[in-house]
Amino acid sequence: MPSLSIVVPLYNERESLDELHGRIVETVKAMNATYEIVFVDDGSTDGSGEVLGALAARDANVRTIRFLANSGKAAGLQAGFDAATGDVVITMDADLQDDPAEIPALVAALEGGLDMVSGWKKERHDPLSKTLPSKVFNTVVRMVSGLPLHDFNCGLKAYRRDVVKTVRIYGELHRWIPVIAKFHGFRVGEIP
Ligand code: UDP
Ligand code: MG
Repeated sequence: MPSLSIVVPLYNERESLDELHGRIVETVKAMNATYEIVFVDDGSTDGSGEVLGALAARDANVRTIRFLANSGKAAGLQAGFDAATGDVVITMDADLQDDPAEIPALVAALEGGLDMVSGWKKERHDPLSKTLPSKVFNTVVRMVSGLPLHDFNCGLKAYRRDVVKTVRIYGELHRWIPVIAKFHGFRVGEIP
């Protein structure tokens, strides 16, 4: 089992952090993996920082990075990529839209020969105002990049270490990581 770094960018997610942490720990312990959880607090003002401080105090596998000002999801992910020490890096959103129970399937997909595997939110519980722009975005990126993914923007992804130490993201580039990875020559795939 490779060692895992779970990178979680977050902005004002106080309500979900305890449950998310508990569900991540439950999953990685069942996998018998050595792990770290890197929370990147993107300038939260809702008390997320205090919740993370308490988590780090009781779980030595928790690391926290804190931005002084809100800098966007890509900046948060990049800080997490820089800090991650694991053989495999998993990213997930902090709002419980991504299920930590999917981690073993993502790791298995990497072990099957991929360098990066992206989650696909196959059944979405979002309003049309989100799913329609997302459909257009995914169709255009699929055509431009030649990469046959359904869901480029899913927060739940897994990477071999090399990938996160190679790609550089900022601004809105978090939506393009699969494409950037492909352009670097990495093997990119998707699982529902
Ligand atoms: N996020 C962040 N900085 C921001 C905005 C969002 O770190 O400026 C985090 C957010 O807390 C969540 C993830 O990025 O963990 C995805 O954000 P959101 O749920 O708003 O995106 P969506 O689900 O709409 O794609
Ligand atoms: Mg969300």
